[in-house]
Amino acid sequence: MRYITEPARDIKVINDVDIVVLGGSCTGVFAAVRAARLGAKVAIVEAAGAFGGTATNSYVCIWHSLTDITYKKQIISGLTEEMIERLKAVPNGLRIRPPKENKWRAPHYSTYVLNTEEMKIELDRMVIEAGITPYLHTRYSAPYLEDGELKAVIIENRSGRFAIRAKYFIDATADGFLGADMGMDVYYHGDLQPATTGARVAGWEKLTKPNNILRTDENRLRIGGRAGWEINVPGTKNVSNWCKPQFVGDCSDADILTRAEIEGRRQVREMMNILRESDPCGRELSLVGLSPMIGIRETRQLRCSYQITGEDICYGKHFDDAIGYCAYPVDVHIPQMPTTFRYLDGWERHSTPSGEIEEVRWREDGDYPTYWQIPFRSILPESIPNLMVCGRSIDSDRDAHGALRVMISLNQTGEAAGVACYEALTSGNVLQKINFESFRDKMKKGGSIIL
Ligand SMILES: Cc1cc2nc3c(=O)[nH]c(=O)nc-3n(C[C@H](O)[C@H](O)[C@H](O)COP(=O)(O)OP(=O)(O)OC[C@H]3O[C@@H](n4cnc5c(N)ncnc54)[C@H](O)[C@@H]3O)c2cc1C
Repeated sequence: MRYITEPARDIKVINDVDIVVLGGSCTGVFAAVRAARLGAKVAIVEAAGAFGGTATNSYVCIWHSLTDITYKKQIISGLTEEMIERLKAVPNGLRIRPPKENKWRAPHYSTYVLNTEEMKIELDRMVIEAGITPYLHTRYSAPYLEDGELKAVIIENRSGRFAIRAKYFIDATADGFLGADMGMDVYYHGDLQPATTGARVAGWEKLTKPNNILRTDENRLRIGGRAGWEINVPGTKNVSNWCKPQFVGDCSDADILTRAEIEGRRQVREMMNILRESDPCGRELSLVGLSPMIGIRETRQLRCSYQITGEDICYGKHFDDAIGYCAYPVDVHIPQMPTTFRYLDGWERHSTPSGEIEEVRWREDGDYPTYWQIPFRSILPESIPNLMVCGRSIDSDRDAHGALRVMISLNQTGEAAGVACYEALTSGNVLQKINFESFRDKMKKGGSIIL
């Protein structure tokens, strides 16, 4: 290994804010908006050219139900519901799938089909309306400490390398970049769930029924052995949004991410070719979009003050410090292994790579929870006084991560991180010692459901 030594240099401080959020998916944007609406001076730093993260930049366009498994009790509100309302107001901004339209036995699976291009615009609007300073095409690259305390982040963009000073920091980068740089314990779950390139394909309605394409009973097309999902972009009959390719590797590593992007696109071409050759109208298909960023399901986790476990999720463990709720099942995809969905009502569904489905009971005793809870401690570092973590890197074991990783759940971790930083800012307390009643009161007043 060869090294060069970078000469020391002065770095211009381009902003001095109360709270800086790193990463601008809905998780990060919602953190920033909640803090800014309370009155904090906030900046947000996003590596891509648009907000929305995996939803917009990887074409993952599905949000699940905001209710518990009975569909009678709403358990999620806040900015997730506000975004749904905003998209409803835009022509073809959103399609709502009534539960009966879903073929899965737990129809919680997907309720809102997002027009993710419209969502990019709504996220811009939310950020600007809240008075947040946005930095797009800008990467966080390093922390800056004084006397051992985090005081600023170094960022890089087209104009150079700069610092943003802040009192509080929110790591919403999904790979836990700031947390890891600050020395937080980082861990992996073993076999990582695959990353997937999104594709948009026009001409879909022209396809007849090709013989060598298997439609599973979930109504998913299996092309060249890959199932994934496909769903029409809202308002279109012919543009299908796919998430099918699979690449296994730790995409928090730059070389692996590069390989993942190239392999994901290669797999899209391979699947297009299968369709073109197997369907009489296959050659009329046109590839109209490849996601700017491969969709990443899992990389590394950051050790916080509490690790949520699969048992906590499956048995709906009550937490006094709950900051979010969800009813999505434990859903772990490992290529070449059955995909498992473990539902709260005691059923478990396995679908094998070849398309067979098996349903078994994992639980018979009947005292089933209708939703699960996210404790504040799972997004709170143990000892760093001015850093919150949110998004898919929060402290969770493999099964818990399989449920938590959906966006309606992670959005709530962002909102809680933003409100917690504001609470600490105004009370002068470290994050570990905020007044929890006052914090939860602000969560509720800002629109979150706190049960
Ligand atoms: C193929 C696939 C299908 C899925 N299906 C669904 C589904 O149907 N419904 C669902 O709800 N969930 C689904 N998920 C899971 C869900 O999409 C993700 O778990 C979730 O979006 C992760 O959100 P996040 O905010 O943690 O991270 P991300 O969405 O990855 O956001 C992180 C953001 O941080 C930015 N960032 C990273 N590093 C830096 C840096 N150094 N500086 C500045 N910015 C940085 C990134 O550009 C990105 O915008 C799916 C995931 C995949 C991959």
